[in-house]
Amino acid sequence: MMTNQQLQQRKQAVIARGQGNIYPVYVERALNSEIWDVEGKRYIDFGTGIAVCNTGHSHPKVVEAVKQQLDKFSHTCVMVNPYESAVALAEKLVKLAPGESEKKAIFVTTGAEAVENAVKIARAKTGRRGVIAFNGGFHGRTNLTMALTGKISPYKHLFGPFAGEIYHVPFPMLAHGVSCEQSLKAIQNLFKVDIAPQDVAAMIIEPIQGEGGFYPAPASFLQALRDLCDEHGIALIVDEIQSGFGRTGKMFCHEDAGIEADLITMAKGIAGGFPLSAVVGKSEFMDAPLPGGLGGTYGGSPIACAAALAVLDQIEQQQLVARAQHIGERFEHYLGQLKGDFPQHISEVRIAGAMIAIELCKDGDPEQANTQLTQALIANAPDYGLVLLACGFYGNVLRFLPALTIEDEILDEGMQQFAKMFAAL
Ligand code: PLP
Repeated sequence: MMTNQQLQQRKQAVIARGQGNIYPVYVERALNSEIWDVEGKRYIDFGTGIAVCNTGHSHPKVVEAVKQQLDKFSHTCVMVNPYESAVALAEKLVKLAPGESEKKAIFVTTGAEAVENAVKIARAKTGRRGVIAFNGGFHGRTNLTMALTGKISPYKHLFGPFAGEIYHVPFPMLAHGVSCEQSLKAIQNLFKVDIAPQDVAAMIIEPIQGEGGFYPAPASFLQALRDLCDEHGIALIVDEIQSGFGRTGKMFCHEDAGIEADLITMAKGIAGGFPLSAVVGKSEFMDAPLPGGLGGTYGGSPIACAAALAVLDQIEQQQLVARAQHIGERFEHYLGQLKGDFPQHISEVRIAGAMIAIELCKDGDPEQANTQLTQALIANAPDYGLVLLACGFYGNVLRFLPALTIEDEILDEGMQQFAKMFAAL
Protein backbone atom coordinates (compact mmCIF):
# COMPACT_ATOMS: atom_id res chain seq x y z
CA MET A 1 0.00 0.00 0.00
CA MET A 2 1.37 3.42 -0.96
CA THR A 3 1.49 6.23 1.60
CA ASN A 4 0.09 9.71 1.02
CA GLN A 5 3.63 11.04 0.72
CA GLN A 6 4.64 8.46 -1.88
CA LEU A 7 1.53 9.17 -3.93
CA GLN A 8 2.12 12.90 -3.71
CA GLN A 9 5.63 12.43 -5.06
CA ARG A 10 4.32 10.30 -7.92
CA LYS A 11 1.64 12.88 -8.63
CA GLN A 12 4.01 15.81 -8.70
CA ALA A 13 6.20 14.02 -11.24
CA VAL A 14 3.38 13.60 -13.74
CA ILE A 15 0.51 16.01 -13.01
CA ALA A 16 1.31 19.66 -13.69
CA ARG A 17 1.29 22.14 -10.82
CA GLY A 18 -1.53 24.10 -12.48
CA GLN A 19 -3.78 21.28 -11.24
CA GLY A 20 -2.31 21.36 -7.74
CA ASN A 21 -4.05 19.74 -4.76
CA ILE A 22 -4.81 21.45 -1.45
CA TYR A 23 -4.28 18.35 0.67
CA PRO A 24 -1.63 15.64 0.17
CA VAL A 25 -4.29 13.22 1.38
CA TYR A 26 -5.16 10.45 -1.08
CA VAL A 27 -8.69 9.09 -0.83
CA GLU A 28 -9.30 5.38 -0.52
CA ARG A 29 -13.04 5.54 0.09
CA ALA A 30 -15.70 7.98 1.19
CA LEU A 31 -19.22 7.62 2.57
CA ASN A 32 -21.68 10.42 3.26
CA SER A 33 -19.57 12.99 5.18
CA GLU A 34 -16.52 10.88 5.92
CA ILE A 35 -13.39 10.21 3.89
CA TRP A 36 -10.73 7.59 4.59
CA ASP A 37 -7.27 8.02 3.12
CA VAL A 38 -4.90 5.36 1.82
CA GLU A 39 -3.29 5.13 5.26
CA GLY A 40 -6.64 4.42 6.93
CA LYS A 41 -7.02 7.87 8.55
CA ARG A 42 -10.56 9.26 8.74
CA TYR A 43 -11.60 12.84 7.90
CA ILE A 44 -14.84 14.77 8.23
CA ASP A 45 -15.51 16.37 4.89
CA PHE A 46 -16.60 20.01 5.06
CA GLY A 47 -15.71 20.57 1.39
CA THR A 48 -17.79 17.90 -0.44
CA GLY A 49 -15.50 18.08 -3.48
CA ILE A 50 -16.20 21.85 -3.77
CA ALA A 51 -19.95 21.87 -3.12
CA VAL A 52 -20.68 18.82 -5.26
CA CYS A 53 -21.77 15.97 -2.99
CA ASN A 54 -24.92 17.60 -1.56
CA THR A 55 -26.33 14.10 -0.99
CA GLY A 56 -23.04 12.93 0.53
CA HIS A 57 -20.41 10.60 -0.86
CA SER A 58 -21.64 7.42 -2.54
CA HIS A 59 -25.29 7.81 -1.58
CA PRO A 60 -26.64 4.23 -1.93
CA LYS A 61 -29.57 5.36 -4.10
CA VAL A 62 -27.26 7.26 -6.45
CA VAL A 63 -24.87 4.31 -6.63
CA GLU A 64 -27.77 1.96 -7.41
CA ALA A 65 -29.11 4.25 -10.16
CA VAL A 66 -25.67 4.52 -11.78
CA LYS A 67 -25.10 0.77 -11.65
CA GLN A 68 -28.49 0.12 -13.22
CA GLN A 69 -27.74 2.59 -16.00
CA LEU A 70 -24.32 1.06 -16.66
CA ASP A 71 -25.95 -2.35 -17.02
CA LYS A 72 -28.12 -0.90 -19.80
CA PHE A 73 -25.73 1.39 -21.75
CA SER A 74 -23.07 3.96 -20.91
CA HIS A 75 -23.08 6.40 -23.82
CA THR A 76 -24.85 7.10 -27.06
CA CYS A 77 -24.69 10.95 -27.02
CA VAL A 78 -27.89 12.81 -26.34
CA MET A 79 -27.37 14.62 -29.67
CA VAL A 80 -27.36 11.31 -31.60
CA ASN A 81 -29.65 8.77 -29.91
CA PRO A 82 -31.27 10.36 -26.88
CA TYR A 83 -32.82 8.54 -23.90
CA GLU A 84 -35.67 9.09 -21.49
CA SER A 85 -33.54 10.02 -18.46
CA ALA A 86 -32.33 13.23 -20.17
CA VAL A 87 -35.93 14.21 -20.96
CA ALA A 88 -37.11 13.34 -17.42
CA LEU A 89 -34.27 15.37 -15.91
CA ALA A 90 -35.01 18.39 -18.09
CA GLU A 91 -38.69 18.11 -17.12
CA LYS A 92 -37.71 18.22 -13.44
CA LEU A 93 -35.25 21.10 -13.81
CA VAL A 94 -37.65 23.36 -15.72
CA LYS A 95 -40.22 22.80 -12.95
CA LEU A 96 -37.72 23.47 -10.17
CA ALA A 97 -36.35 26.68 -11.72
CA PRO A 98 -37.95 29.73 -10.08
CA GLY A 99 -40.57 31.66 -12.06
CA GLU A 100 -43.64 30.93 -14.12
CA SER A 101 -42.36 31.34 -17.72
CA GLU A 102 -42.17 28.32 -19.99
CA LYS A 103 -38.62 26.99 -19.81
CA LYS A 104 -36.25 24.58 -21.54
CA ALA A 105 -32.87 23.08 -20.63
CA ILE A 106 -29.64 21.97 -22.25
CA PHE A 107 -27.00 19.73 -20.74
CA VAL A 108 -23.23 20.12 -20.81
CA THR A 109 -20.48 18.80 -18.57
CA THR A 110 -18.82 21.44 -16.36
CA GLY A 111 -19.84 24.66 -14.69
CA ALA A 112 -17.67 26.69 -17.04
CA GLU A 113 -19.34 25.10 -20.05
CA ALA A 114 -22.78 25.95 -18.65
CA VAL A 115 -21.73 29.59 -18.31
CA GLU A 116 -20.21 29.63 -21.83
CA ASN A 117 -23.45 28.25 -23.24
CA ALA A 118 -25.61 30.69 -21.27
CA VAL A 119 -23.64 33.59 -22.78
CA LYS A 120 -23.93 32.05 -26.26
CA ILE A 121 -27.70 31.75 -25.81
CA ALA A 122 -28.00 35.34 -24.56
CA ARG A 123 -25.98 36.62 -27.53
CA ALA A 124 -27.99 34.55 -30.01
CA LYS A 125 -31.28 35.85 -28.59
CA THR A 126 -30.32 39.53 -28.34
CA GLY A 127 -27.94 39.83 -31.30
CA ARG A 128 -25.66 41.82 -28.96
CA ARG A 129 -22.12 41.19 -27.72
CA GLY A 130 -21.42 42.84 -24.35
CA VAL A 131 -21.57 40.99 -21.03
CA ILE A 132 -21.50 42.61 -17.60
CA ALA A 133 -19.96 40.62 -14.75
CA PHE A 134 -18.95 41.43 -11.17
CA ASN A 135 -15.64 42.02 -9.44
CA GLY A 136 -14.78 39.04 -7.26
CA GLY A 137 -17.07 36.75 -9.27
CA PHE A 138 -15.94 33.33 -10.45
CA HIS A 139 -17.38 31.59 -13.49
CA GLY A 140 -14.74 29.08 -14.61
CA ARG A 141 -11.42 28.46 -16.29
CA THR A 142 -12.22 28.44 -20.03
CA ASN A 143 -11.33 31.50 -22.09
CA LEU A 144 -14.72 33.20 -21.93
CA THR A 145 -15.35 32.26 -18.30
CA MET A 146 -11.87 33.43 -17.28
CA ALA A 147 -12.74 36.73 -18.91
CA LEU A 148 -15.96 36.87 -16.87
CA THR A 149 -14.14 35.99 -13.68
CA GLY A 150 -13.34 39.07 -11.62
CA LYS A 151 -10.09 37.96 -9.99
CA ILE A 152 -6.67 37.75 -11.65
CA SER A 153 -4.53 35.36 -9.65
CA PRO A 154 -4.38 32.43 -10.09
CA TYR A 155 -7.28 32.05 -12.51
CA LYS A 156 -6.18 34.51 -15.21
CA HIS A 157 -2.51 35.04 -14.52
CA LEU A 158 -0.39 34.30 -17.66
CA PHE A 159 -3.45 33.25 -19.72
CA GLY A 160 -4.52 36.30 -21.75
CA PRO A 161 -5.63 37.56 -24.19
CA PHE A 162 -9.16 36.96 -22.99
CA ALA A 163 -12.50 36.96 -24.77
CA GLY A 164 -13.56 40.54 -25.43
CA GLU A 165 -16.67 42.60 -24.71
CA ILE A 166 -16.68 41.76 -20.98
CA TYR A 167 -17.21 44.60 -18.48
CA HIS A 168 -16.75 44.36 -14.72
CA VAL A 169 -18.53 46.36 -12.03
CA PRO A 170 -18.30 46.20 -8.22
CA PHE A 171 -20.33 43.55 -6.43
CA PRO A 172 -22.25 44.96 -3.44
CA MET A 173 -20.08 43.84 -0.56
CA LEU A 174 -21.85 45.17 2.49
CA ALA A 175 -19.21 43.72 4.84
CA HIS A 176 -16.62 45.95 3.12
CA GLY A 177 -18.66 49.09 2.66
CA VAL A 178 -19.66 48.59 -1.01
CA SER A 179 -23.38 49.35 -1.15
CA CYS A 180 -25.98 48.24 -3.68
CA GLU A 181 -26.34 51.89 -4.73
CA GLN A 182 -22.62 52.16 -5.53
CA SER A 183 -22.78 49.02 -7.56
CA LEU A 184 -25.86 50.15 -9.50
CA LYS A 185 -24.25 53.55 -10.08
CA ALA A 186 -21.18 51.79 -11.53
CA ILE A 187 -23.45 50.05 -14.05
CA GLN A 188 -25.06 53.38 -15.02
CA ASN A 189 -21.58 54.89 -15.46
CA LEU A 190 -20.57 51.93 -17.59
CA PHE A 191 -23.61 52.58 -19.81
CA LYS A 192 -22.57 56.21 -20.20
CA VAL A 193 -18.86 55.71 -20.81
CA ASP A 194 -17.98 52.19 -21.99
CA ILE A 195 -20.91 50.41 -23.60
CA ALA A 196 -24.46 51.50 -24.44
CA PRO A 197 -27.12 49.33 -22.76
CA GLN A 198 -28.52 48.38 -26.17
CA ASP A 199 -25.19 46.67 -26.93
CA VAL A 200 -25.27 44.54 -23.77
CA ALA A 201 -26.43 40.95 -24.27
CA ALA A 202 -26.29 39.76 -20.65
CA MET A 203 -25.50 40.41 -17.04
CA ILE A 204 -24.21 37.47 -15.04
CA ILE A 205 -24.29 37.28 -11.26
CA GLU A 206 -23.82 34.68 -8.54
CA PRO A 207 -26.60 35.13 -5.94
CA ILE A 208 -23.91 34.40 -3.37
CA GLN A 209 -20.35 34.84 -4.63
CA GLY A 210 -18.74 31.44 -4.08
CA GLU A 211 -15.01 31.49 -4.79
CA GLY A 212 -15.20 35.25 -4.16
CA GLY A 213 -15.86 34.74 -0.43
CA PHE A 214 -19.52 33.82 0.19
CA TYR A 215 -20.82 37.37 -0.12
CA PRO A 216 -24.59 37.41 -0.71
CA ALA A 217 -26.21 39.71 -3.27
CA PRO A 218 -29.06 41.38 -1.35
CA ALA A 219 -32.54 40.52 -2.66
CA SER A 220 -33.17 44.21 -3.42
CA PHE A 221 -30.04 44.26 -5.58
CA LEU A 222 -31.13 41.23 -7.61
CA GLN A 223 -34.53 42.89 -8.06
CA ALA A 224 -32.86 46.11 -9.24
CA LEU A 225 -30.77 44.12 -11.76
CA ARG A 226 -33.94 42.40 -12.98
CA ASP A 227 -35.57 45.82 -13.54
CA LEU A 228 -32.49 47.16 -15.29
CA CYS A 229 -32.31 44.12 -17.58
CA ASP A 230 -36.04 44.43 -18.38
CA GLU A 231 -35.64 48.14 -19.15
CA HIS A 232 -32.83 47.54 -21.64
CA GLY A 233 -33.65 44.09 -23.06
CA ILE A 234 -30.60 42.51 -21.39
CA ALA A 235 -30.60 38.81 -20.44
CA LEU A 236 -30.16 38.18 -16.71
CA ILE A 237 -28.04 35.08 -16.10
CA VAL A 238 -28.02 33.80 -12.53
CA ASP A 239 -25.06 31.52 -11.84
CA GLU A 240 -26.32 28.94 -9.33
CA ILE A 241 -23.43 26.56 -9.92
CA GLN A 242 -22.18 26.68 -6.32
CA SER A 243 -25.38 27.83 -4.58
CA GLY A 244 -27.94 25.53 -6.22
CA PHE A 245 -29.69 22.27 -5.36
CA GLY A 246 -30.67 22.98 -1.78
CA ARG A 247 -27.29 24.27 -0.68
CA THR A 248 -28.56 27.58 0.72
CA GLY A 249 -31.78 26.27 2.24
CA LYS A 250 -33.68 27.02 -0.97
CA MET A 251 -33.65 24.79 -4.03
CA PHE A 252 -32.09 27.77 -5.84
CA CYS A 253 -30.67 30.65 -3.88
CA HIS A 254 -32.29 33.45 -5.90
CA GLU A 255 -35.80 32.18 -5.01
CA ASP A 256 -35.54 34.46 -1.99
CA ALA A 257 -35.40 37.55 -4.18
CA GLY A 258 -38.63 36.64 -5.96
CA ILE A 259 -37.12 37.29 -9.38
CA GLU A 260 -37.11 35.15 -12.51
CA ALA A 261 -33.82 34.83 -14.34
CA ASP A 262 -33.76 34.58 -18.12
CA LEU A 263 -31.09 31.89 -17.86
CA ILE A 264 -29.80 29.87 -14.89
CA THR A 265 -26.52 27.97 -14.88
CA MET A 266 -26.42 24.78 -12.79
CA ALA A 267 -23.70 22.22 -12.08
CA LYS A 268 -21.88 20.84 -8.99
CA GLY A 269 -24.67 19.58 -6.68
CA ILE A 270 -26.78 18.39 -9.62
CA ALA A 271 -25.45 14.84 -9.94
CA GLY A 272 -23.63 13.77 -6.77
CA GLY A 273 -20.18 13.87 -8.38
CA PHE A 274 -20.92 12.90 -11.97
CA PRO A 275 -19.81 15.55 -14.46
CA LEU A 276 -23.02 17.25 -15.49
CA SER A 277 -24.15 20.83 -15.85
CA ALA A 278 -27.14 22.55 -17.34
CA VAL A 279 -28.51 25.82 -18.58
CA VAL A 280 -32.19 26.25 -17.80
CA GLY A 281 -33.99 29.29 -19.09
CA LYS A 282 -36.98 30.88 -20.73
CA SER A 283 -37.83 28.96 -23.90
CA GLU A 284 -37.68 32.09 -26.06
CA PHE A 285 -33.99 32.44 -25.06
CA MET A 286 -33.11 28.74 -25.07
CA ASP A 287 -34.44 28.21 -28.60
CA ALA A 288 -32.53 31.13 -30.13
CA PRO A 289 -29.42 29.13 -31.22
CA LEU A 290 -29.65 26.81 -34.21
CA PRO A 291 -29.87 23.02 -33.80
CA GLY A 292 -26.38 21.67 -33.09
CA GLY A 293 -25.12 25.03 -31.78
CA LEU A 294 -25.20 23.96 -28.13
CA GLY A 295 -24.12 20.92 -26.11
CA GLY A 296 -21.22 18.55 -26.70
CA THR A 297 -20.26 14.89 -26.95
CA TYR A 298 -20.67 14.15 -23.24
CA GLY A 299 -23.28 16.73 -22.28
CA GLY A 300 -26.16 14.99 -20.48
CA SER A 301 -24.42 11.61 -20.36
CA PRO A 302 -26.88 8.83 -19.44
CA ILE A 303 -24.82 7.93 -16.38
CA ALA A 304 -24.84 11.51 -15.14
CA CYS A 305 -28.57 11.89 -15.88
CA ALA A 306 -29.32 8.70 -13.92
CA ALA A 307 -27.26 10.04 -11.01
CA ALA A 308 -28.95 13.45 -11.18
CA LEU A 309 -32.46 11.95 -11.14
CA ALA A 310 -31.50 9.94 -8.05
CA VAL A 311 -29.96 13.05 -6.40
CA LEU A 312 -33.11 15.11 -7.04
CA ASP A 313 -35.26 12.28 -5.65
CA GLN A 314 -33.18 12.18 -2.49
CA ILE A 315 -33.24 15.96 -2.07
CA GLU A 316 -37.01 15.66 -2.08
CA GLN A 317 -37.43 12.44 -0.08
CA GLN A 318 -34.91 13.34 2.61
CA GLN A 319 -36.15 16.96 2.69
CA LEU A 320 -32.62 18.20 2.23
CA VAL A 321 -33.59 21.79 1.44
CA ALA A 322 -35.03 22.14 4.95
CA ARG A 323 -32.10 20.15 6.30
CA ALA A 324 -29.70 22.78 4.88
CA GLN A 325 -31.41 25.37 7.11
CA HIS A 326 -30.95 23.13 10.12
CA ILE A 327 -27.27 22.67 9.27
CA GLY A 328 -26.84 26.43 9.00
CA GLU A 329 -28.36 26.92 12.45
CA ARG A 330 -26.06 24.32 13.97
CA PHE A 331 -23.00 25.94 12.40
CA GLU A 332 -24.20 29.32 13.61
CA HIS A 333 -24.12 28.02 17.16
CA TYR A 334 -20.48 26.91 16.87
CA LEU A 335 -19.18 29.75 14.74
CA GLY A 336 -21.02 32.44 16.70
CA GLN A 337 -19.36 31.15 19.84
CA LEU A 338 -15.97 31.10 18.11
CA LYS A 339 -16.41 34.66 16.90
CA GLY A 340 -17.26 35.67 20.47
CA ASP A 341 -14.07 33.98 21.71
CA PHE A 342 -11.84 35.34 18.92
CA PRO A 343 -13.26 38.71 17.80
CA GLN A 344 -9.74 39.81 16.86
CA HIS A 345 -9.54 37.05 14.23
CA ILE A 346 -13.10 36.61 12.92
CA SER A 347 -14.68 39.69 11.39
CA GLU A 348 -17.84 38.06 10.09
CA VAL A 349 -19.75 34.76 10.06
CA ARG A 350 -21.85 34.38 6.88
CA ILE A 351 -24.45 31.64 6.77
CA ALA A 352 -26.99 30.81 4.08
CA GLY A 353 -28.24 27.31 4.87
CA ALA A 354 -25.29 24.99 4.35
CA MET A 355 -23.22 27.63 2.49
CA ILE A 356 -21.21 28.84 5.45
CA ALA A 357 -18.13 31.01 5.85
CA ILE A 358 -16.03 32.92 8.34
CA GLU A 359 -13.91 35.87 7.30
CA LEU A 360 -10.54 36.05 9.03
CA CYS A 361 -8.98 39.39 9.92
CA LYS A 362 -6.22 40.94 12.02
CA ASP A 363 -6.86 43.03 15.16
CA GLY A 364 -10.63 42.79 14.64
CA ASP A 365 -10.35 45.01 11.54
CA PRO A 366 -12.38 43.60 8.61
CA GLU A 367 -10.16 45.49 6.17
CA GLN A 368 -7.04 43.62 7.29
CA ALA A 369 -7.31 40.22 5.60
CA ASN A 370 -5.70 37.44 7.62
CA THR A 371 -4.58 35.19 4.80
CA GLN A 372 -1.82 33.64 6.92
CA LEU A 373 -4.26 32.39 9.57
CA THR A 374 -6.52 30.96 6.87
CA GLN A 375 -3.61 29.13 5.28
CA ALA A 376 -2.49 27.82 8.68
CA LEU A 377 -5.99 26.47 9.38
CA ILE A 378 -6.08 24.73 6.00
CA ALA A 379 -2.57 23.32 6.53
CA ASN A 380 -3.48 21.97 9.98
CA ALA A 381 -6.92 20.62 9.06
CA PRO A 382 -5.72 17.07 8.20
CA ASP A 383 -4.12 16.74 11.67
CA TYR A 384 -7.53 17.43 13.15
CA GLY A 385 -9.27 15.04 10.74
CA LEU A 386 -10.95 17.78 8.72
CA VAL A 387 -11.30 18.79 5.08
CA LEU A 388 -11.88 22.55 4.73
CA LEU A 389 -11.65 25.01 1.87
CA ALA A 390 -10.64 28.66 1.62
CA CYS A 391 -12.05 31.31 -0.69
CA GLY A 392 -12.23 35.09 -0.94
CA PHE A 393 -10.41 37.74 -2.91
CA TYR A 394 -7.48 37.65 -0.47
CA GLY A 395 -7.91 33.97 0.40
CA ASN A 396 -8.94 34.95 3.93
CA VAL A 397 -12.35 33.31 4.06
CA LEU A 398 -12.84 29.76 5.31
CA ARG A 399 -15.86 28.05 3.87
CA PHE A 400 -17.85 25.07 5.10
CA LEU A 401 -19.83 23.13 2.51
CA PRO A 402 -21.05 20.03 4.34
CA ALA A 403 -23.20 17.38 2.70
CA LEU A 404 -26.87 18.17 3.29
CA THR A 405 -27.11 14.59 4.58
CA ILE A 406 -24.44 15.06 7.28
CA GLU A 407 -25.44 13.51 10.62
CA ASP A 408 -25.70 15.94 13.56
CA GLU A 409 -23.11 13.93 15.55
CA ILE A 410 -20.55 14.14 12.74
CA LEU A 411 -21.21 17.85 12.27
CA ASP A 412 -20.75 18.42 16.01
CA GLU A 413 -17.57 16.34 16.09
CA GLY A 414 -16.16 18.29 13.13
CA MET A 415 -16.96 21.66 14.67
CA GLN A 416 -15.48 20.65 18.01
CA GLN A 417 -12.31 19.65 16.19
CA PHE A 418 -12.36 22.95 14.29
CA ALA A 419 -12.72 24.97 17.52
CA LYS A 420 -9.84 23.01 19.06
CA MET A 421 -7.65 23.70 16.03
CA PHE A 422 -8.58 27.39 16.03
CA ALA A 423 -7.75 27.79 19.71
CA ALA A 424 -4.38 26.05 19.21
CA LEU A 425 -3.19 28.48 16.50
N1 PLP B 1 -19.56 29.28 -11.52
C1 PLP B 1 -19.48 29.20 -10.18
C2 PLP B 1 -20.35 30.08 -9.33
C3 PLP B 1 -18.58 28.32 -9.57
O1 PLP B 1 -18.50 28.26 -8.23
C4 PLP B 1 -17.78 27.49 -10.39
C5 PLP B 1 -16.80 26.58 -9.79
O2 PLP B 1 -16.37 26.71 -8.67
C6 PLP B 1 -17.90 27.61 -11.78
C7 PLP B 1 -18.81 28.50 -12.31
C8 PLP B 1 -17.07 26.76 -12.70
O3 PLP B 1 -17.43 25.40 -12.58
P1 PLP B 1 -16.45 24.25 -13.10
O4 PLP B 1 -15.26 24.27 -12.20
O5 PLP B 1 -17.27 23.01 -12.99
O6 PLP B 1 -16.11 24.58 -14.51
